[in-house]
Amino acid sequence: MSTQFFGHIIDNEEVESISGERFDVWNPWTQEVFAQAAEGGAEDAERAIASARKAFDEGPWPRMTHPERAAAIHKLADLMEERADELATLDSTNMAKPFAQAKHDVGRSVANFRFFADHQRDHTGEVYPMPSGHHTYSEFGPAGVVAAISPWNFPLMMATWKIAPAIAWGNTCIIKPSEDTPASVTLLGRLAVEAGFPPGVLNVLNGHGAPAGSTLTADDRVDRVTFTGSSVTGKAVMASASTHLAPVSLELGGKGANIVFDDADMDNAVYWAVEAIFRNSGQICLAGSRLYVQSGIYDEFMERFVAAAEALTIGDPFDPEVAFSSLASKKHFDKVSGYLEDVEEQGGTVLTGGVDEEGRWLVRPTILTDLPLDSRQYCEEIFGPVCVVNRFETEAEAIHLANDTRYGLNAMLFTENLSRAHRVSSHLRAGTVWVNCFFIRDLRTPFGGVGDSGVGREGGNFSREFFTEPKAVVMQI
Ligand code: NAD
Repeated sequence: MSTQFFGHIIDNEEVESISGERFDVWNPWTQEVFAQAAEGGAEDAERAIASARKAFDEGPWPRMTHPERAAAIHKLADLMEERADELATLDSTNMAKPFAQAKHDVGRSVANFRFFADHQRDHTGEVYPMPSGHHTYSEFGPAGVVAAISPWNFPLMMATWKIAPAIAWGNTCIIKPSEDTPASVTLLGRLAVEAGFPPGVLNVLNGHGAPAGSTLTADDRVDRVTFTGSSVTGKAVMASASTHLAPVSLELGGKGANIVFDDADMDNAVYWAVEAIFRNSGQICLAGSRLYVQSGIYDEFMERFVAAAEALTIGDPFDPEVAFSSLASKKHFDKVSGYLEDVEEQGGTVLTGGVDEEGRWLVRPTILTDLPLDSRQYCEEIFGPVCVVNRFETEAEAIHLANDTRYGLNAMLFTENLSRAHRVSSHLRAGTVWVNCFFIRDLRTPFGGVGDSGVGREGGNFSREFFTEPKAVVMQI
């Protein structure tokens, strides 16, 4: 029996859908429904857009000074810190994310708000006195209404990565969280009301991709569409936004290469290889799902990598000892386990892992080798705890293998040779390269992907350029 309800938050009111329809919200660890959420229809999306539009056209938010907006956003961040356990509990319950990881995500979500609150205050424009005697300056005014659509793998963190720069730069926003994970984002919307945000600045629209998300992207009252999700949906979002020429920012799928050279610090490389593919049960767009190990250390590395994967404590996400839990939904469990059905048939070998035998929606940390380079396990984004390993001989071979994919979100490399670190980084076709680490971010730097991994970059000034209408003013003096 469900006990909680997550409504839409429109105009600072938490409301049911106009149709009264709701959908079930699951706890994938217990395999029970723990809540219900409002099922957004086209008319609810229209309502949210009308609210955001009015708040932008007539409300105080876009007209506030930069420090005023910074103060309002820091207040929301303060409330999130006070309620961090509650936010993390919702993500852990809703998608079986180990609680310590969910707490870490809340910290990063708070940092998203604080960073963009300060960034918009401190980067308001540039001034250039011209040698011709003119004086020119740039202005970064808000773009308007932003539709933000987020996935279920980092329910709170991915949503805040979009909301924070959007509202910081004076826009009003409608966030549509994934239908699989509406809980933490709805609480965030409640906190924005508590923080005193004017009505319509942050609306939360719950519901499925269609009609809730697709109504947002198609509406010409929406000025920007920022989307994180799969490459297939990203293409549909871009097509829909193009009908009214709304600029899009797309952060899509990945098939990250992780290259370990013979001269790597072995302890560090094993630690990060495990983090890169098994953290969040592998449900990370940036996962190191293709691992390439140089032949000189292959046997030793693989022995240690397999042992470390098998040592992960699996179980209840609220058990503090647990580092690895079930997948986020039954639907996703079916997808990931489907990739393990024909591994041997394709000539592959399962070194460790496989589908849980106790009926949980869980795939154990899985390491595969010997798969052909055209197998679906090697080429496609599995988005689960499944690592496909290959051996390589030379640096050139590693670069070729790493780049031989339609994706290009990120790559990792492990080496103690500084020249090689720089050389290989510059040859990798990826939006982010991590050298001797993984998942560390500085919010000033660009974030995004190449090819099927996305369009555009966000972060620091890249977010400023996307979420504003930059203007040049030239004066003769
Ligand atoms: P998804 O594409 O199925 O859904 C993402 C969001 O889009 C959801 O909110 C969904 O309701 C909505 N949606 C679906 N159809 C829509 C439509 N026609 N119009 C508008 N909205 C629509 O993705 P998912 O399964 O939730 O997330 C997993 C994917 O996200 C993976 O491919 C992963 O790599 C990717 N991802 C990328 C990044 C990144 O930063 N590049 C980060 C996290 C996840």
